[in-house]
Amino acid sequence: MDPDLTISKITGIGKYYEYQLRKLNINTVEDLIYHFPFRYDDFSQIKTIENIQTGEVASIQGVIWQIKNVRTRSGKFVTVATVADQSGTVEIIWFNQPYLTQTLKPGMQISLSGKIQFDGFRPKLISPSYEILKSAVSQSRSDLVQGLTLHTGRLVPIYPETEGVSSKWLRAKIAKILPDYLKNTEDFVPKQTLDRQKLANLTNALNYIHFPKSQDEIEKAKKRLAFDELFLIQLASQLRKMNWQKTKIAPEMKVDKEKFTKFTKMLPFKLTDAQKRAIDELLSDLKKETPANRLLEGDVGSGKTVVAAAAIFVAHLNGYASLVAAPTEILAFQHQETLAKTLSAHGINVGIWTASKKQKGDVTIGTHALLNNFKPEKTTALVVVDEQHRFGVAQRGQLFINQSGKLTPHLLTMTATPIPRTLALTLYGDLDLSILDEMPKGRQKIATFVVPNAKRNKAYKFIEEQVKGGRQAFIITPFVEPSETMTSVKAAVQEFEKLKTKFAKSVKLGLLHGKLKSKGKEAAIKKFRKGAIDILVATPVVEVGIDVPNATIMMIESAERFGLAQLHQLRGRVGRGKHKSYCFLFTNSNSPNSLKRLRSMEKINIGFELAEIDLKMRGSGEIFGLRQSGFINLKVADLADRKAVSEAQNEAKELLSFDSSLKNFPLLSQKLNKLQPEYIQPN
Ligand code: ADP
Ligand code: MG
Repeated sequence: MDPDLTISKITGIGKYYEYQLRKLNINTVEDLIYHFPFRYDDFSQIKTIENIQTGEVASIQGVIWQIKNVRTRSGKFVTVATVADQSGTVEIIWFNQPYLTQTLKPGMQISLSGKIQFDGFRPKLISPSYEILKSAVSQSRSDLVQGLTLHTGRLVPIYPETEGVSSKWLRAKIAKILPDYLKNTEDFVPKQTLDRQKLANLTNALNYIHFPKSQDEIEKAKKRLAFDELFLIQLASQLRKMNWQKTKIAPEMKVDKEKFTKFTKMLPFKLTDAQKRAIDELLSDLKKETPANRLLEGDVGSGKTVVAAAAIFVAHLNGYASLVAAPTEILAFQHQETLAKTLSAHGINVGIWTASKKQKGDVTIGTHALLNNFKPEKTTALVVVDEQHRFGVAQRGQLFINQSGKLTPHLLTMTATPIPRTLALTLYGDLDLSILDEMPKGRQKIATFVVPNAKRNKAYKFIEEQVKGGRQAFIITPFVEPSETMTSVKAAVQEFEKLKTKFAKSVKLGLLHGKLKSKGKEAAIKKFRKGAIDILVATPVVEVGIDVPNATIMMIESAERFGLAQLHQLRGRVGRGKHKSYCFLFTNSNSPNSLKRLRSMEKINIGFELAEIDLKMRGSGEIFGLRQSGFINLKVADLADRKAVSEAQNEAKELLSFDSSLKNFPLLSQKLNKLQPEYIQPN
């Protein structure tokens, strides 16, 4: 069976299921095989009827003696059956499933799993899972089912589901397809690696993850499949690094100490220690002929621009041009303004290259899209890519490498996403990392409070008072889904209507969500900025990328559903002016863990520390919505597991050290290309 076969080509899976399965990211046969259970019901305890005990979860097997539907007084259906084995009989009850009598008939051999309950007289099975045993039943009960049942009498896998696609359905399909799939699948991980790491082979791992016979098999499967994910990420990033360094030569620059000291003296502020460190790291990159590929991470406002400016200055002294790529036109103009402030005094002409304005300079700022076709007048020695909040695109900078003819420019990517160092090293093993983990002095701290439901009205009152005092507020509506769908827009509109009743008539509310036309969005933001709106109600996914110094309150609903790093970034929208600012985190959750996590927002105002906490408490998939981003699709591995990460890293190194092109491992090479074609640099 072709692993890439479209799923609807399988007998019994038509267009309807193709459509539904797409919601689970299942498009091909292989996607279905790699749709893993997130837990298992332990129905492995098979008992004779005389031995079942109230309160336990157990499975029994026997013959249906009788089965009938009974109507209750309230008009509902109850299906009552009696099942017998050699040791006795037991009554089975199902509610509201009258159609069961169409499938289950007296005389049939059946397997049942569920919780045994006591009805006051004797144990009963209420709403158990069932399955008909098609095979003939022998006299000895013990060899009856092991290996034959799918939904009962074993460790039963429970999968992520969607409309029309139940775990029972998935189980049946996977059981049918898996043997065929495995017949044509060879293990892509080298044998020596598997042996050294004591890992199960792929066939076993896939069998175990779906249909384990024991807890031990589940563990073995997870260990192997997690290894695969980490191993592939590591191989990809190490290959990228090797290709980047092997074939490319960058301009080798000199740093004139005297001139550079003058540059720092002329800045309107003193550099933070973190900025000094980052600048040192970047300048020593520029002195080498290996092209730098550095990621600069720092919260919004941590002062990344001046780090870039320092490198642009040095490139200029060496007779080279630089390029700065911004995600939007507005940000391009903003960068031009800020950089001009620092660089013009040194005779550096700061140009702009966007849809509306084109003017080349010694350094030119442009949007990502347009810079691709930009032809500089001098050799470009440095490319700075400002990614803002976007994630997983740190490689995009490499798109700009062809612009300088023979020489490859040094590359600096800047991001405001606080990816913890451990995580960054895994994902971006090929990048060097500089972190601004320190804010310039004098920034005000935003007073942050987790607000329980009981104090909700008090918080509204407080907001109203602030508004009466001339301030403004953001209210972020409940997080419904990770992307902007009609559901979350509807929730936002409902919340908006509700909020109108909470505040005095004089308080002016505005609504901003992603389904508004861009004109409507602009209008709302403009009004808010002008002060014509007091409270801007916005959906969580709206990038509130606006600077409104008069806004002093950020209120977030269903805060527990956000990553801490995301909350921190939302919070960064206030506290930009001279007024004291506040962040209110509303939650309906009573879970101690959830509250503890949120409370860390009250104490900590450094993005990296918050991201680390999330990494420990929720695992890597949850932070930054990584799991949904499609950038990495980790189903089993946890990037917070440092031991597993470093083992995979070492194995990747080991393998590449004696076969850097993987020519002896074509299956592995194929797998890499298939998973992340953009991972491997075309040369
Ligand atoms: P970001 O990291 O978000 O890109 P910016 O580089 O735009 O941050 O800097 C934010 C603001 O802080 C700018 O106005 C900048 O001039 C200022 N700034 C940067 N570094 C310092 C510093 N060391 N001391 C005081 N202000 C600084
Ligand atoms: Mg910036």
